[in-house]
Amino acid sequence: MGLEPSRTVLELKELQALTSDENGAQRLAFTPTWSKAREWLKGKLKELPVEVQRDEAGNLWATLHGGLPNALLLGGHIDSVPNGGWLDGSLNLLAGVEILRRFNAQYAGKPPLTIRLVDWADEEGARFGKSLFGSSACSGFLDMDEARGLKDNDGVPLIAALAEYGIDFERVKESGKQLRNAMAYLELHIEQGPVLLDKDLPLGTVLGTYGVERHAVTFRGQAAHSGSTPMNKRRDAFLAAAKMSPEIYRIASRHGGVCTIGACATAPGIPTSVVEQCRITLDQRHLDKAALLGMLQDAKEASGRFATEGNVGVSWKRLWRIDPVLFDELLLTLCDEAIRETCGTTHRMASGALHDAAEVARAGVPTVMMFVQSLHGISHSKIENTKEEHIEIAVIAFDKLAEKAMRRILSSLPR
Ligand SMILES: [Zn+2]
Repeated sequence: MGLEPSRTVLELKELQALTSDENGAQRLAFTPTWSKAREWLKGKLKELPVEVQRDEAGNLWATLHGGLPNALLLGGHIDSVPNGGWLDGSLNLLAGVEILRRFNAQYAGKPPLTIRLVDWADEEGARFGKSLFGSSACSGFLDMDEARGLKDNDGVPLIAALAEYGIDFERVKESGKQLRNAMAYLELHIEQGPVLLDKDLPLGTVLGTYGVERHAVTFRGQAAHSGSTPMNKRRDAFLAAAKMSPEIYRIASRHGGVCTIGACATAPGIPTSVVEQCRITLDQRHLDKAALLGMLQDAKEASGRFATEGNVGVSWKRLWRIDPVLFDELLLTLCDEAIRETCGTTHRMASGALHDAAEVARAGVPTVMMFVQSLHGISHSKIENTKEEHIEIAVIAFDKLAEKAMRRILSSLPR
């Protein structure tokens, strides 16, 4: 029983039929449908001689014990956003199951190295607004104080939702011991963007995940009557804020990153007053730490200039930041090789979205991700799709990567 990539497509459809409705996938973490999806996954794993366990953070691990305790990790997440697609997270997992089957068959149940598949708990963070819960608990980077205060829209605390599934919040970081023997972590994922589609390539090697600087920028002017205040006498906070909009496009293109003004709120916010206060959010992302800082400095400088021009004040407040996470050089090379051997051409690209792989990499485990083309460049929606032919190519290439990584790890170990 070797690798059967078409089985991955069938199993993805099976999971979709089991856990979706007419609006898409409903595998929201720590809900009955998510639990059902996991039971289904465990059923698939039962056919293999793997040890299945759940760690303190609710991550599910399937271990195919090998000749050595040193482990090659494959990962994904079975949880989805509400009304999600059929591939985000579950492709990674089911490709991983197929690769476990191949290792099991090829090495008669005992590969030279231990191979482990992990289903991270609550990657999406859709319910509590905190992405990468299980993997950040495992990496040790989860902010416990912040997580302790999280509630869903119905006021249910994260801690209570976890307890319902037998997870003791105060112990979630004990899951970190799962990474003790980890030699490498590999994750396959749909691109969720248009880059590979534009290049007409099925697969790409992911260099790392973007660093993020996220700020609220508030301009303060003076409310004044919209009829009796001459145009040249106004201190219009909206005018200064609005100038930021085209400016961030110039900044992004100068540095090669991405910038987004995602929210804008005005006060007093009535038709008959000049805007006294305008608060915008600015989200900036780049794979290079220095360039990310450059984008932030440029935006701050521009905001100061626009404030001066409009005779208004400006202040900045950081909402969130994370450094770029760069994947392992050696694994990048192996990923390129695996893709080239499978479909001729590869493309190196950054990931704009965060993934569990970033947490594992931050924990110091050599990591790489492989992307497969997304149709429409859309995800987190029921129209999320990838050609079945590309799914199969992805399973083949990802399996090659797993074998190459295992061999590389073996050759690096003292005999
Ligand atoms: Zn995902």
